[in-house]
Amino acid sequence: MKSPMTAERPAAASAPAAPNAPVAPNAPSNDPSRIVRSSMQISSRISRMKESATLATGAKAAAMKARGIDVVNLSGGEPDFVTPEPIREAAKKALDAGRTKYAPTPGDPAVREAIAAKFKRENGIECSAAHVTVCAGAKHAMYMVLQALVEPGAGDEVILPTPAWVSYRPIIELAGARCVEVPSSVDTRFRLDPAAIERAITPKTVGLVLNSPSNPCGTVSSPTDLKALVDMLVRHPRVTIMSDEIYEKLIYPEITPGLSHWSPGSDPRVAERTITVNGLSKAYAMTGWRLGSIVAPGDGGRFMKELIKLQGQMTNSVPSAFMPAIIEAVVHGAASVESMRRVFASRAKRLHERLSKIDRLRTVASDGAFYAFPDMSRCMGLTSKGGTRIDSAQSFADALLEEAHVAVVAGEDFGECARAHVRISFACGDAEIDRGCERLAEFVAGLR
Ligand code: PMP
Repeated sequence: MKSPMTAERPAAASAPAAPNAPVAPNAPSNDPSRIVRSSMQISSRISRMKESATLATGAKAAAMKARGIDVVNLSGGEPDFVTPEPIREAAKKALDAGRTKYAPTPGDPAVREAIAAKFKRENGIECSAAHVTVCAGAKHAMYMVLQALVEPGAGDEVILPTPAWVSYRPIIELAGARCVEVPSSVDTRFRLDPAAIERAITPKTVGLVLNSPSNPCGTVSSPTDLKALVDMLVRHPRVTIMSDEIYEKLIYPEITPGLSHWSPGSDPRVAERTITVNGLSKAYAMTGWRLGSIVAPGDGGRFMKELIKLQGQMTNSVPSAFMPAIIEAVVHGAASVESMRRVFASRAKRLHERLSKIDRLRTVASDGAFYAFPDMSRCMGLTSKGGTRIDSAQSFADALLEEAHVAVVAGEDFGECARAHVRISFACGDAEIDRGCERLAEFVAGLR
């Protein structure tokens, strides 16, 4: 049905008006000479911002699929599972019971209690419910944290170890800070380098973003490495640590024995200035629900109070009917998470076995999240069967999609040091992994 705004007007209304007939000031006109074309202002900070490369690739693959092309999509950034049933049921029940009103901005008290208890129990972070907010995903969480931290115009700098998730840089820059990348490489399994991070710290540095397990690297920083980083950060008390731990439950000791997660916010030396971000999207297969959380216990909860003020002027609470679903996930969801984690662990192994047979790619085994991030620099300068010269990760990913119908995400937007990488997701079934890798291997072998 057409909305009143777009409905065609009856023929009579478009007849030329009598020369002296009064014209209502807001009356629509069909007279082209009376249509004023104005160009709306768009702020430079938004027009400069790049579209999310991961979302753009996914959309391109979906459009090709819709045209009937048999695309193998290895670009996904979300679990291929449906949210576990008890979590879905909890939300349905809440809706049917009439939970349709606003909830308190940072979430129901019981939800904040449950999340604070989780951060204490699982992550060793000393906190209370007052230090927690529930927001519209970890992306929203990172956005708010940076808005609350950075002073625009003051020359603030935020350090980002790279390769890193595509949204950190735009979020940092939108808040008004300069994003300072500290690169790593496939040669060191993308290991954090405390000395290199320390060299990047200046009097202008206000924050450091950490993300383990890592999107896009698929690697996990060991507790030993993270503690060594904290040893260094103790010397720099002005640096706020923002630890995005959204993949914490997707860690594979099956790949790297003994591997576990460690939260910098649990270290009393930096607990006061560590903000920990998490969310339900990845571990509980709840990407579409848009549920994230932040814990910021430092400074007597002052930072959290300011964050909640921002959230109250921005989005308010997450949907109130989701409150019982959050509790169901956080308190009772462990078995579901573990069954999905096991599947991801086996896919990680499967993907690595196949990628490591492709000579021109250099890949490290993924022991966390659901990505591999091979280096494709040995393909640079070659030409595909379809005639594309491979002079960037983007041209590689484009030719792979066009010619072999496999979608992967080009590395460029994951950082300068990621320019010769592509991100391959194993958030898809074994058959997709096998078909995708077969086509990828053939494509790479066909480069001349
Ligand atoms: N952080 C990282 C590292 C991610 O990979 C993602 C999702 N791609 C997010 C945050 C955002 O997740 P959410 O769905 O909770 O907004």
